[in-house]
Order: sequence, then structure tokens, then C-alpha cells
Amino acid sequence: MVLFVTGACPKYDECPYCTISPWRRNRDVIYADEVEVKSDEDVLREARLIEAQGVGITGGEPSVVPRRVEHYLRVLKGEFGEGFHAHLYTNGWGITEEVLARWVDAGLDEIRFHIWDEGGWQKIRLAVKFDLRVGAEMPAIPGSPWEDRLRDLAVFLDSAGAEFMNLNELEFTEGNRRSLLAMGMRPRPDSEVAAMGSREAATRVLEFIERETGIDGYFCPAQQKDHQMWMRWRRRAKNVAEPYESPEERGSLVYGVLKGDEEALSLALDLLRERGVPKERILIKRGEIRVAPEALIELAEELVSLGLEGELVEVAPLDERMVLAEYPLAYVARHGKEWEEGGG
Ligand code: SF4
Repeated sequence: MVLFVTGACPKYDECPYCTISPWRRNRDVIYADEVEVKSDEDVLREARLIEAQGVGITGGEPSVVPRRVEHYLRVLKGEFGEGFHAHLYTNGWGITEEVLARWVDAGLDEIRFHIWDEGGWQKIRLAVKFDLRVGAEMPAIPGSPWEDRLRDLAVFLDSAGAEFMNLNELEFTEGNRRSLLAMGMRPRPDSEVAAMGSREAATRVLEFIERETGIDGYFCPAQQKDHQMWMRWRRRAKNVAEPYESPEERGSLVYGVLKGDEEALSLALDLLRERGVPKERILIKRGEIRVAPEALIELAEELVSLGLEGELVEVAPLDERMVLAEYPLAYVARHGKEWEEGGG
């Protein structure tokens, strides 16, 4: 689970590549994945729904709200036990021995620093004194001076006794697009989000890490975040599905909607019952019927001939279902089986 503890960060002017969305920047908001958090129960519920094995605490800058971080560490470790892994991302801003001591006491397992300037790297020395896995997580920005700084940081991490450096493929987001273009970065032709040259820069730095240091180096491709989100949705989908919704293999939910006048809806209801569609897989709403997608696909042609309209709706398994795709009933009637077999 990703726990975004605040949108506040003192370094928005210094990180032109920052991926934080404009509507979270400098706002003191808390999110557990996509859920806005109003109470501890919101955090615990999301962790249960996605069957989380651990938490990544991020922001903004978590050290702006150290007591809040400590609180959530205690809440999560208290509920899910010591084995629930907790790691945290920081630019080092508010990191002191006292803050680290509190976080470690509350159950923090790993800390990942994101710091370019050598002065700031001294914060890493504070962290290695604690019972923590310590490393850095940096964007792989191609060219000079960025790649030189990454190499210098790797050497520093090694000398300070830290364990690893993660390099993230530089990615375009709504929040950083303009600044990345101004820096001369361009999206890769084969990707909507990954920046050209970043992957190659990461490879060069990883080769250096391997050759010149004793720390471990890792690369995280831009598409990995997407993959992680779909994996999370896949677990969430089966836990939040309404009886009329079916979880799809890829992590979405699908249901059917039937619309029409009162008479047509009543005929549709009779047909669904007659064909043995279980009553819990039908939801009668004002002016529409929601029904299990399998039933809508199976009976699509007959439903069209009864004068009904409607669609097969694919949604993200969030609390407020976000529509990903809609397939009109007439289309399903023509291609129903193909849709089912092709997975949309
Ligand atoms: S430190 Fe992190 S959150 Fe803050 S501006 Fe830089 S990239 Fe964004």
C-alpha cells in the first residue's frame, strides 16, 4: 500500500521532475492508495482490501509531518504485526536522530533517501546508525551533471555503510511534463510516460555501481508503477465486488446495465429470472437494471429485441468506481462471445 502522508514538500522548486500531481502539491492531504484518508480506519480498510503485505510511506515530504508518520507506523504495525514491512521515502529535510529514533521505535524497516547535494548526504550517516535498511532512490536523469551526481552518491552510500540505490526510469506526468520538456527531455516513442535516454543512463550508473562499489543497484522501469497498480486493483476487485459485478483477470470490475421504459425493463427482468440468473446478481435501480456481465452477454440479442438499451461497463475497483470502458448492448449482441473470450 502506498501511504501519501502529506502533499507538503519544501523542495518543489528544486525537483523539476517531481511526479506529484498538481492537485496534491502543497496540500496537506493524506491518501492510502487512491483513497482520501479521514480516519485511521480508512488506512486499515484499504490495507485489508488490497491484502497489503507492507506500506511505502511517501509524500510530499514525510519528515514535514514526523508525528503523523510515527502514528501510522504504530497503527499499521499494531494491526498487522511486525512482519508488515514499512519503508519510507525522504529528501532528508526534517531528518534528525530524534525523528529516526521515533520512527524506528514505531516499526520503520527501511528508509530511501532522495538527495542530490553532498551536504544533505550527511543525513544518510544518521540513518545507518539505526537498525534500518538504508539506501537511496533517485530518478535516472540522463546527461551531465545528473549521472555524475548519481555515481558520487553511490560511492558515498558505500562509504557510509548504506546498502542500495534504486534508480527509477524518469517519467512524464501531468505535474512535470512542462518542466521535463524545458530540460530537453522527450518521451520515448514506444512509451507514453518514459523519458528517452533514462533507461540507458540507469544502465551506465548500475554498471558503475557494480564495478566500483559494494552496494546493490536496482532499476525500476516506468511501466512498473502501472503494473503495481493493476496488481493492487486485482486484489481489491475481488474484495469490493458488488454481487452484480464480476472481477476481470486484469484487475477491473465489469457489470451490465439495462435501460428502457418501465415495460421493457419489466420484460427484461422476467427474461433474466426465467433464464435462472440468481436474484443477488441483479440490482434494480430507478430507471435501470444492473446485472452480472455473463448474463448480459448471454442474453444480449434477446434483450435488444425486447427494445432495451444498455451497456457492459468496465470500472476501476475504487470506492467511487471510475469508468474505464463502456460497450453498448447492441455491440455486445453482435460481439458478445468475442468480448468474453478476448477480455474486452
Ligand atoms: S523531494 Fe520528492 S516530493 Fe519533494 S519536490 Fe522533490 S521529488 Fe517532489
